[in-house]
Amino acid sequence: MSELNVVSLSEAQLPAEPFRARHLINGEWQASADGATFERVSPSHGKVVTIAGKGGPRDVDAAVFAARKAFDKGGWSRTSGKERATLLLKIADLIDRERERIAFHETLESGKPISQAMAEIEGASDLWRFAASLARTMHGDSHNSLGSDMLGVVLKEPIGVVSMITPWNFPFLIVSQKLPFALAAGCTAVIKPSEMTPATTVILGELCMEAGVPAGVVNIVLGYGDPVGTAMTTDKRVDMVTFTGSTGVGKAIVSAASGTLKKVSLELGGKNPQVVFPDADLESAIDAIVFGVYFNAGECCNSGSRIIVHEDVAEDVIARTVDLSRQVPFGDPLDPSTKVGAIITADHQGKIEGYVRDAEQSGADIRLGGEALDVPGLSGQFYQPTVIANVQSNMAIAREEVFGPVLSVLTFKTLDEAIELVNDADYGLSAGVWSDNVHTCLEFARRARAGTVWTNTWMDGFPELPFGGMKESGQGRELGKYGLEEFLEVKTVTMRIGRTRAPWVS
Ligand code: NDP
Repeated sequence: MSELNVVSLSEAQLPAEPFRARHLINGEWQASADGATFERVSPSHGKVVTIAGKGGPRDVDAAVFAARKAFDKGGWSRTSGKERATLLLKIADLIDRERERIAFHETLESGKPISQAMAEIEGASDLWRFAASLARTMHGDSHNSLGSDMLGVVLKEPIGVVSMITPWNFPFLIVSQKLPFALAAGCTAVIKPSEMTPATTVILGELCMEAGVPAGVVNIVLGYGDPVGTAMTTDKRVDMVTFTGSTGVGKAIVSAASGTLKKVSLELGGKNPQVVFPDADLESAIDAIVFGVYFNAGECCNSGSRIIVHEDVAEDVIARTVDLSRQVPFGDPLDPSTKVGAIITADHQGKIEGYVRDAEQSGADIRLGGEALDVPGLSGQFYQPTVIANVQSNMAIAREEVFGPVLSVLTFKTLDEAIELVNDADYGLSAGVWSDNVHTCLEFARRARAGTVWTNTWMDGFPELPFGGMKESGQGRELGKYGLEEFLEVKTVTMRIGRTRAPWVS
């Protein structure tokens, strides 16, 4: 479509050889026990960019054994906060050193723009630094008012061996929302990245080894959800599972983990609304709407895919959103000017297409896009920026995660109606409000059922602020001090002072 801003074929070169990814088990890089491998084809260039070990139950068994042994021996779990913080800071520095290499492989495997990947890796090293600061502030409580002969102490201890299962949309950033916090707590880990994006987690493993993380503390098993993920969630030597991905798999993990009653922490999907009131700074709101829906090609749990606009300004907002959407550079993710890259797989592109056709048949009105995007010279899959108006809250496109560059627009008349629409969702990850009236923003923030509320902004995030969902968007929190708490167990120590205990049998 000529009226869109399409970036085709950058100068950047694809690597001559695919990246070779192996499992990291007990400090050693290993092929799969049965020698199996799989290939990842770049979603934007259609070339094999990674060949990775395809793990099975024997590889998971060896990794969990190593993590359990490392934890129980105490060589990491009983070190001081100072020692752990020092190591985490070293890893942060190594991430900065390798930023370009990590970003390049992230882009090749995920199809996300290289400029965005660079920013994500920078954000990730900051998460390692923040987690290092928490490692030195971890403490429990003391109870000094239980009576003159009693003292109570509440200890915080690392929970133990943690299975980490991560998705393909932000591979390096999401593992960095989990691993440094678990390590700061003193846990050991077995990590499985998505089979579509294994390379950068492997590079992170290399950096952990270079920094001096003891053998068995960080283990990586590559491969598919079944059998690798399932073995990681059912093994009784694992104490906790932390998962980011789809709500469907999250529910399967809760049920798999229930056999051994592990703690499960989940970061799942969202159908995140932004509500626009007529008194808002519409220029800023429209830019944030465009950013919110096209960022990472919409393949984002925080995608602002559901816009709820006051009917007095709805037509104006839709027209201006369409105009701005046409200006967003879609295309080759290796070109530094590109803002929206490829769709992760052809199957996923088909799923996006299915939602758009279903909305059309249900009476919604496609104002822009709604088709695959042809990027000259590239053989991967891309989707046009898409704006759909006249969406009703009972349509699948208003309720389910499309995970593509597709915006649904609904309208409202009153604040109560807007909040009803916001909360009429199975998800509760994030929500936003645009208004110059502080009372409107505060009332919205308090009544929206979402783990994060943005007022007059969208998707600003900080390591200091916790992130996570209500309802079917998840359980538990990452980041902030809560991100460390997730990996801690509470132990009560009750102490009697002196020989004051009255005998039970007299
Ligand atoms: P999944 O939720 O299927 O996968 C996420 C991770 O879980 C991957 O590493 C996957 O392995 C693993 N996994 C899959 N099945 C199991 C299982 N039974 N036990 C343990 N681990 C398992 O996401 P997809 O990648 O398939 O994406 C599908 C949809 O999920 C998307 O269209 C999107 O709607 C949503 N999604 C949401 C994300 C979010 O951040 N909220 C992130 C990614 C996806 P593998 O895929 O390697 O087999």
